[in-house]
Amino acid sequence: RSRVLLERQEQRESNARTYPRHLPIAIADARGSLVRDVDGNVFIDFLAGAGVLSLGHNHPELVRVAARQLEIFTHGLDLPTPAKDDFVTAQLSMLPAALKDRMKIHFCGPTGANAVEAAIKLCKTATGRDDIVSFAGGFHGSTAAAMAVTGLVEQKAPVGGGMPGVHFFPYSYCARCPLGLSKESSGTRCAHYLENALTDPLGGIPLPAAVIMEMVQGEGGVIPATYEFAQRVRRLTRELGIPLIVDEVQTGCGRTGTWFAFEQYDIEPDVIVASKALSGIGTPVAVILYDKELDRWAPGAHIGTFRGNQLAFATGAAAVEIVRRDRVLENVRERGAQVAALLTPLETLDWVLEVRGRGLMWGIELVHPGTGRPDGELAEAVQAEALRHGVIVETGGRDGCVVRLLPPLNVTEDHVAAACGVLVDAVSAVGE
Ligand code: PMP
Repeated sequence: RSRVLLERQEQRESNARTYPRHLPIAIADARGSLVRDVDGNVFIDFLAGAGVLSLGHNHPELVRVAARQLEIFTHGLDLPTPAKDDFVTAQLSMLPAALKDRMKIHFCGPTGANAVEAAIKLCKTATGRDDIVSFAGGFHGSTAAAMAVTGLVEQKAPVGGGMPGVHFFPYSYCARCPLGLSKESSGTRCAHYLENALTDPLGGIPLPAAVIMEMVQGEGGVIPATYEFAQRVRRLTRELGIPLIVDEVQTGCGRTGTWFAFEQYDIEPDVIVASKALSGIGTPVAVILYDKELDRWAPGAHIGTFRGNQLAFATGAAAVEIVRRDRVLENVRERGAQVAALLTPLETLDWVLEVRGRGLMWGIELVHPGTGRPDGELAEAVQAEALRHGVIVETGGRDGCVVRLLPPLNVTEDHVAAACGVLVDAVSAVGE
């Protein structure tokens, strides 16, 4: 039955084939960390809607909240409602203490890319400047400006997706340091490129309106910034009066073990972009949280129809309560340590360059054992082998060479053990 549905989808659609191409299943239903296909096969879902389903599929409490809200009121543009008020209160309460009184929230439309667009526009308005600095390997979305600041060339193909005034700099991808530096010095050294470009009169770029970065590049292959790199970027941008946008679309809402990933780097962004897991159950919503000092927008300066999704507000407020009550962040840290313990031994294999991650965001980078080059075919083979044994994972990074894990944040110890067991076998098998 999965094959029939896949063929029918293939016949009807000319694109939108990204996931079915690698995950040839049609889904019947799901609960928690488990997904069942239309043929009755059950899978442990270590993709979780690309990180959207932070509390698992169909969390029963969120389902009840959504059903209740459906009966009350569903769409409210940007007019105030009790559900929206609860959502705003919940989101602001999750900010680190130093940012709580400094930040405002703005609703940007349903997707992460919408919020990235808003963040860029806000910084351009506030500074009166036009250029944007971004990092190689970063991903920020598929709309015009979000794509333009995306540093994953494969994601821009075949159109290029560029925009004048966007400048890319190296990200602290120490596993592939072009200078062959150690992990300790590589992150610090690569921040020099940006520093030089911005401070040397011959550096070549005008003072930008913003620097945008992910604390852990997700689509780019699960690459956590080094602490020193993040520190230097923040220090430099602050000294030069450049707003720092931290894109927490994927890393936010607890994914890395703190509510926001930047908290682990002891930095404070000027703008935070959040979406994906904000509502806990996939009801779409995207926001920017930003320093009030940047707020030079006139009323109505940034609008959009779908900024009043009451289902997302109601479930999002409830999701924050559940995260607190059920100590979900603790679970992320504990299960993350479990993943690390089970998977890092794979680094001894010739075809595994690195196993890396934060919290419950992990990547296994596969390389050709002879050349050491990124090997997307191996990663795809791992994905297929894992699926055959009941585990759903995604790939990403250079040439798709990284197997990516994004389980629900409330995943159980047993499911982590089972899924990692399958992955260890799959990774071991593909290189032999
Ligand atoms: N930023 C980051 C860091 C992301 O990972 C993504 C989505 N993968 C986006 C932005 C874009 O979000 P959306 O797909 O909801 O537009």
